Amino acid sequence: MKIIPLGEGAFTVDKTKQFVPFKVGQDDLQQRPVGSLLVEIQPFAIITSKDILVIDTGLGFTNEDGVLQIHQNLLNNGISPLDVTKVLMSHLHKDHSGGITKKDTVLQQRFFSFPNATYYVNKDELAFALDKANTSYKTEDFEMLRNAEQVVLTEGDGMIDDYIRYEVTGAHSPFHQVFWIKDEGETVFFGGDVAPQLQQMKSRFIAKYDFDGKKCMELRQQWWEQGQKENWIFLFYHDIKTPVFHF
Ligand SMILES: [Zn+2]
Repeated sequence: MKIIPLGEGAFTVDKTKQFVPFKVGQDDLQQRPVGSLLVEIQPFAIITSKDILVIDTGLGFTNEDGVLQIHQNLLNNGISPLDVTKVLMSHLHKDHSGGITKKDTVLQQRFFSFPNATYYVNKDELAFALDKANTSYKTEDFEMLRNAEQVVLTEGDGMIDDYIRYEVTGAHSPFHQVFWIKDEGETVFFGGDVAPQLQQMKSRFIAKYDFDGKKCMELRQQWWEQGQKENWIFLFYHDIKTPVFHF
């Protein structure tokens, strides 16, 4: 499998849940509000023997030319957004779901950013997010998921095309899900925001921003041990230095 991190840059985020760009080596973390977290925003493209996958969709910010950042990052890697076949969503917090749709400023209408892809979203996560519209969920970005032909609303755990396994973990958000992609003898693991950074895998800590921080901690520990035994390739959505980790 070919794994392509689609980094959108580093940001700080605090209680207000605003993502403020942060230039590493230039900006000073001490100047940001107390309690600010420094995170990368990093969707992934994976080219498997069967698909071009996108995992989570970034903030949905556009560049000066009005091009969605995730589109530009794909194009920079020689992938047309039209060629993406599946979009896998861990959960719908705005830093993951911003690129699900894009508003056409001329037509004043929203379209799926990956028109030829099937989107896989947990049904309960979608219902929860639409109901709980708040600073973490920006419903306009994903309302279209509700009844669209190209959307599969998953329920519980299951398999996609016999090689992608999804499992509902909750823990970070009530219906957060994670993915294992097994292809050509390799296993790629995406733990979403339950396992967002390499450093978190190695230390026991409970984060305040999680729905169930203790469960997140326990899952991280379990995956770290199992991944080592089974030679998983870990993808870290919020890691600034190590997007992809292989033992
Ligand atoms: Zn989240």
